[in-house]
Amino acid sequence: MSIKKWITAIGLFFIFFTPIAHTAYAVPTVSGATADKLSTETQILKTIVKKGDSASSLLNNYLPLKTIYKLTRQSADIFPLGQIRAGRTCTFILNQNRLVGFEYEIDRKDRLVIQRNNHTFSITRVPIDYDVSLETVSATIHSSLFEAVRRAGEESRLACKLADIFAWDIDFMRDIRPNDQFRVMVEKKYQKGKFAGYGKIQAALFINGGRRFTAFLHKGQDGRSKYYDEKGDSLEKAFLKAPLAFSRISSKFTLKRMHPILKKIRSHPAVDYAAPIGTPIKTVGDGVVVGMGFSKSMGNHVIIRHCKGYVTRYYHMSKFSKAMKKNRRVLQGEIIGFVGMTGYATGPHLCFRMKKNGRPVNPMSHDIPSAGPVPPMEMEGFLAGAKDLINQMYMTRYSGLRNKTSA
Ligand SMILES: [Zn+2]
Repeated sequence: MSIKKWITAIGLFFIFFTPIAHTAYAVPTVSGATADKLSTETQILKTIVKKGDSASSLLNNYLPLKTIYKLTRQSADIFPLGQIRAGRTCTFILNQNRLVGFEYEIDRKDRLVIQRNNHTFSITRVPIDYDVSLETVSATIHSSLFEAVRRAGEESRLACKLADIFAWDIDFMRDIRPNDQFRVMVEKKYQKGKFAGYGKIQAALFINGGRRFTAFLHKGQDGRSKYYDEKGDSLEKAFLKAPLAFSRISSKFTLKRMHPILKKIRSHPAVDYAAPIGTPIKTVGDGVVVGMGFSKSMGNHVIIRHCKGYVTRYYHMSKFSKAMKKNRRVLQGEIIGFVGMTGYATGPHLCFRMKKNGRPVNPMSHDIPSAGPVPPMEMEGFLAGAKDLINQMYMTRYSGLRNKTSA
């Protein structure tokens, strides 16, 4: 062996064994990786990030800490390397045993791609390519929607998506009956033939206690996609059922009640929701912030004006959402602030009030107007499309229809 070769061999010894000796914990990650040899020079090592792994423990086999530190700073705005999580896939691309690329699956949508170009690195966040197929899933419910979805071979996430669509009409905790049925046409994403998540539900049918509900996704000219029934009426109501998702009603709407602090009979034209401090509060409908501030009785409060003469008020917040300010337009479901106990409040809760044309209404029993139907200009196309989707759903008996398109 020539001297030159000996030097190379010694060099390789140090490159490969020195860092491993210092970071013994990182060895199993790489030795457990599957090597995919493209050529004798390029090697692709795929591995699953293990608990306790970090960007430096993963990369330290190939890069000096100084370079990893630089990469961490460079990547901060694209994807903070400190957020690398166990269970995700990462890939090392080596050329003649030198790291030339590193990829990390950030989530089901994006991956991080780090590429070496001579002495610098480029870092980008790239959308993951999926094959998308539109499939029909159907089942009869015996006990719960979740159970039926799982029995149909699908993930619980599909049940959540379905429940969200019909949330205005069906209370999935209380209204579900045995023999209820659903049929849904959903986009399913695949990566190299492996299921990788759901896209949008394009159409759905739900039979609940003998009542039939339908939903079709329609993208309006304003660019917003919404669900409508087969007649083109919106499934959404103008207002959410409640400004807090998980809470207990601690005081109902009444026009006469003993005020807990003032000890006088006072009306309480409001619904109080008890919830821990910091629970996000959502605006129940699209509107404009017409009041926002602090008062001795209301504490931190927000007042929103909606269309058709409705105004909603939210009291006793611990703080406002950062983006909130007077005259700002808000969309239904947007977080406006957080539960607190500022002002006259005996415990952490949200005092929620609704008025129509200046008169208090009970948001629990008031007949909430529906959001607008499909715009007249778009109606004809919508109706034809909905009819088509219903036929397709009934033609395909179970998961099966696969119109492969690229995402
Ligand atoms: Zn109250």
